[in-house]
Amino acid sequence: MAKFVFVTGGVVSGLGKGITASSLALLLKARGYKVFMQKFDPYINVDPGTMSPYQHGEVYVTQDGAETDLDLGHYERFIDEELNYTSNITTGKVYQSVIEKERRGDYLGATVQIVPHITDEIKSKVYAAASTSGADIVITEIGGTIGDIESQSFIEALRQIRNELGKENTLFVHATLVPYIYGSNELKTKPTQHSVIELRGMGIQPDLIVCRSSEELSEHLKDKISLYCSVPPRNVIDSVDVKNIFWVPLNYYKQGMDQIVLEQFKLVIKKSNIKYWEDLVEKVDSLKDEIEIALVGKYVELHDAYISVSESLKHAGYANDVKININWVNSEELEKEKDISKVFKNSAGIIVPGGFGSRGIEGKIKAIKYARENNIPYLGICLGMQLAVIEFARNVCGIHEASSTEFNELCKEPIIDLMAEQKGIINKGGTLRLGNYDCKLVKDSQAYKEYKQENIKERHRHRYEFNNKYREVLEKNGMVFSGINEEANLVEIIELKNHPHFIACQFHPEFKSRPTRPHPLFNSFIRESKVFINKSN
Ligand code: GLN
Repeated sequence: MAKFVFVTGGVVSGLGKGITASSLALLLKARGYKVFMQKFDPYINVDPGTMSPYQHGEVYVTQDGAETDLDLGHYERFIDEELNYTSNITTGKVYQSVIEKERRGDYLGATVQIVPHITDEIKSKVYAAASTSGADIVITEIGGTIGDIESQSFIEALRQIRNELGKENTLFVHATLVPYIYGSNELKTKPTQHSVIELRGMGIQPDLIVCRSSEELSEHLKDKISLYCSVPPRNVIDSVDVKNIFWVPLNYYKQGMDQIVLEQFKLVIKKSNIKYWEDLVEKVDSLKDEIEIALVGKYVELHDAYISVSESLKHAGYANDVKININWVNSEELEKEKDISKVFKNSAGIIVPGGFGSRGIEGKIKAIKYARENNIPYLGICLGMQLAVIEFARNVCGIHEASSTEFNELCKEPIIDLMAEQKGIINKGGTLRLGNYDCKLVKDSQAYKEYKQENIKERHRHRYEFNNKYREVLEKNGMVFSGINEEANLVEIIELKNHPHFIACQFHPEFKSRPTRPHPLFNSFIRESKVFINKSN
């Protein structure tokens, strides 16, 4: 049977609870255990798929097509395990299944209540994470902060799980803040004490307390938290601010966090295989060269809206020995810009990531044209592929009215059109083309050269596709259709010959990039960007 770790947060949000949960998972995996992760989001949306990126940042997509919280991206990047639809549970999802069961008559006449029906549903979702993954240890992060009205039923379900399975099979990590007060110049433990009292009021005694602070906690402070919060002093772990998040697992490792967990679970403490992560951290900290990559999007003020893309750029940077500085370019402002060469003056490469709707479209097209004409390495993702095709059709093939029916339903030249299977769909939630689909690469293409294999699987999140009616004319003019989903005859990758790197894909490669294993398309993009900028300097 699996063991369960639950990570709650206290005092304030934004403590890096997700990084704490992933770091612990990474350490347990390095000890030879199969880990799996899950997040509870106590909002009523069924998933974040329908939320604005301004509300929620990026929507992360799992291989099986679940639209999830961006924290799952951190999980996958840290533990390098594929998560699934059981990995992100919202209040909306829980109530949806309880209400469906009630309508079917499954409750046999009972009055349906929060306890036990909602809590049973939550428990079943925790157990499903264990059974679908076959993991030894499942780590569940509870979104929000202790005391929020919204998360109460989740906390109650976890209390029941602890009661059923005992301390040997469940472990509670509480992540809190230990603020530094200027003037008196000391770290304060009172907020931590209060938040543990709050947690206890809900029937949960934490086993481990992780204290976010600006400096290391003294033994004296750890003893104090230990005394007030009823945990042994070594179970008080400090989490000092770090300049790069990859340090967090190493900091916890130094304090024996993984050992404490394995001891409580009565699991064998095998030798840790953490060296690869230490090497990574060393590499990241020692990068000397830097290049600038322009990221053109309409949500650039909120960097979280592109978190997997920016992380993937960094991963490729590690592999190519360069630090990546992102030039965040607002596509709407680019529309008005008279001299765009100014904007891209220092850029080694240009990337247009995914997006929805028509705002800022012409600015993105302008950037793509500039990259194509000036031989600047380009990577287009999803909408960034659709727009690359539109730009090529308009400016190379002379199809001046080329557009997408997403921006103009009645457009005369629908180079990008709604997929057949999408026609007639009214519901917005969960109805895009989502998750893994096969793609076959054309043998002598650049994509094939980068992937070094013919058959790949990539994750998707879109409703529109390239319109095959235009394939021939674009091909004649030099566009290469280098990746195809044969099952539905969908264009998955396009590229241009006679350009150092002009590749765009309908899928989202950023979901599969890992710190020690960059995605092939990001890798080639950064490699060629480095060549380009060195040549032009
Ligand atoms: N809006 C486009 C579509 O639905 C692209 C989606 C995306 O970039 N994720 O097809």
